[in-house]
Amino acid sequence: DGGKRPDYLAGLNPEQTEAVETLEGPVLVLAGAGTGKTRVLTTRIAHILNTGRAFPSQILAVTFTNKAAREMKERIALLVGGAVEGMPWLGTFHSIGVKLLRRHGELVGLRSDFTILDTDDVVRLIKQIIQAEGLDDKRWPAKQFAGMIDTWKNKGLGPADIPEGDARAFANGRGRDLYFAYQNRLTTLNACDFGDLLMHPIAIFRKNPDLLKEYHGRFRYILVDEYQDTNTAQYMWLRLLAQRPKGEPQNVCCVGDDDQSIYGWRGAEVDNILRFEKDFPGAKVIKLERNYRSTEHILGAAAHLIAHNEGRLGKTLFTDRSDPDDVKVQVHASWDSEEEARAIGEEIEQLQRGKHLLNDMAILVRASFQMREFEDRFVTLGLNYRVIGGPRFYERLEIRDAMAYFRLVAQASDDLAFERIINTPKRGLGDTTVRALHDYARARDIPMLAAAVDIIETDELKPKARKALFDVIQSFRRWQELLENTPHTELAEQILEESGYTDMWKNDKSAEAPGRLENLKELIRSMESFESMRGFLEHVSLVMDAETNENLDAVSIMTLHSAKGLEFDTVFLPGWEEGLFPHQRSLDESGRAGLEEERRLAYVGITRAKHRCHIWFVSNRRIHGLWQSTLPSRFLDELPETHVEVAAMEQSYGGYGRGGYGQSRFDKAEPFANSYSTPGWKRAQANKTDATRDNWGTRSGHAVERIGYGESGPKGRTIEGE
Ligand code: ATP
Ligand code: MG
Repeated sequence: DGGKRPDYLAGLNPEQTEAVETLEGPVLVLAGAGTGKTRVLTTRIAHILNTGRAFPSQILAVTFTNKAAREMKERIALLVGGAVEGMPWLGTFHSIGVKLLRRHGELVGLRSDFTILDTDDVVRLIKQIIQAEGLDDKRWPAKQFAGMIDTWKNKGLGPADIPEGDARAFANGRGRDLYFAYQNRLTTLNACDFGDLLMHPIAIFRKNPDLLKEYHGRFRYILVDEYQDTNTAQYMWLRLLAQRPKGEPQNVCCVGDDDQSIYGWRGAEVDNILRFEKDFPGAKVIKLERNYRSTEHILGAAAHLIAHNEGRLGKTLFTDRSDPDDVKVQVHASWDSEEEARAIGEEIEQLQRGKHLLNDMAILVRASFQMREFEDRFVTLGLNYRVIGGPRFYERLEIRDAMAYFRLVAQASDDLAFERIINTPKRGLGDTTVRALHDYARARDIPMLAAAVDIIETDELKPKARKALFDVIQSFRRWQELLENTPHTELAEQILEESGYTDMWKNDKSAEAPGRLENLKELIRSMESFESMRGFLEHVSLVMDAETNENLDAVSIMTLHSAKGLEFDTVFLPGWEEGLFPHQRSLDESGRAGLEEERRLAYVGITRAKHRCHIWFVSNRRIHGLWQSTLPSRFLDELPETHVEVAAMEQSYGGYGRGGYGQSRFDKAEPFANSYSTPGWKRAQANKTDATRDNWGTRSGHAVERIGYGESGPKGRTIEGE
């Protein structure tokens, strides 16, 4: 390079500098949260460009989300001072896959204008195939098979890789044939699904060595962020592009953190980290140990928690960021989720009065149904918020469907609601019927529900549709009669049950179905604070109207899963209760491994915070329509006393009197207070006694940790794990 060192290198620590400057040969940066892994990647790209080692188009850089890709592009532009002439190969595995397929799709039988099917399209297509094969699609649900195909594709398995007659492979071993039929159908339709965006490029490169060679020549540098969450197919894809014949440059740099692997349920293989050194012999492994993001309290709490996991590579983390004003991680208790939202709302308003930006605050939830309470509260308070990584609560599919039922019961002329649910769940009232009803209603200028009542007296519809329509009308009549004198939450539950809507999701085998059922329960729960169905419907239309302007200062609300890689000044982590976090489903489905993945999720959550981290738990939640007292999450017991403070109970309980609860609130909170202040600590302390040295690179042994002062002097704090 010679001459003056560019500015962007000036602030880096020696290990980061090494990771940026080791441009030749494979590099693996394996380091804890907030140590600058993403910053290293960004700076590395800037350095490559700045030193003229490659053009932007010769760099392949993979991020976990599209948002992260956009941010990285902006950062690079800042570092190299001036616009980067595009970075065409910066994106997620999927978006890069699309790009490759648009160019070379013909090699797997796709024209360049192929379409990408969404989940609904896929399920519809699979259903047709199942039926065409003469199988009963009730016994062998299309959704379930769609899930299987997705799992196979994440593992890089095509139809030919499924053993013939594998009895586990759906419909008594016909999975393989159906999978073949599905792929053929996609080709005929000139379409592909999400998994194909990974699978097709793999096939293309395998079958066309010359083309692969061309891409080896093109991509002089390859970089991957969040490497711990790559799945097998992504890894195969990466290896094809990055592994070069002997003597050719192999400039690949992956950065990741095994403690932040949180997509195992979606096929991510943390073992890809271990394979890296095998597949790329001579790889330089660089550890970053200094955390630049969080205070020592936040870091100490997170490190102590994650030390309870067994399957870890282990790492050292310390921070110099300690200040006398630093606050410990705060644990708060609330009576129920409504009070939790209220208390967090107050905390936010207080920070706001202290001149903190809403943009610097985030609420990270375990399950998306939890968002509803916050959205409602913030609308009431007039606080701006944005939901990241998914629709807002009342905009979700299942909520819109359910609301359409309620609206139609309350307001029989709501044609939009009518059209939305008349055939949801499916009851044989398809497009033809709806069109007939539409025409009938238009001609007479009456609402569609009224048209339905009339039309069944005529012979305009086929007998089957007529019967189905008759049943629906009867149901609506009944619900309308109940509207005035049945408690509205009860009626709402009844509507969802009797209409078959709840069952529709219960019978649905897709990964999203359980979450949708949770959301429906949350919807019913949210009605409780209103006097009537009409009052509730009015409220929702107001909430829906509260547009969040992207440029406004706003609190972010998102799931822990979508918070990966992000950072905020203040982080709120509500709902730390057994069953919700760790989530019961993870424990049931994956046992110990599931628990460890939940714990990593907790680690991701805490380490998003720079200055303030507030954890909340409630003592009561409505589960399956019943109020149940809940136990504080075991993760609370796993936090270290030195870095955590239990916020005064009285404070979080005071002021919200709703009469009658008074004393019992404290009773509820007591078990926590006990386990938290004594046995919990003892357990945590016991872990510390068999502290051993940092043992990088091995996976064996129980996770232990040592807290003490590190080399950086009395201010620094080293937290080690094995
Ligand atoms: P995660 O594991 O959460 O993805 P990460 O390892 O990718 O974290 P970054 O997001 O790159 O960490 O960095 C965390 C924060 O520390 C960022 O705000 C970044 O700008 C800052 N940072 C990183 N390195 C340095 C440095 N050498 N000097 C000052 N700030 C730094
Ligand atoms: Mg990062």
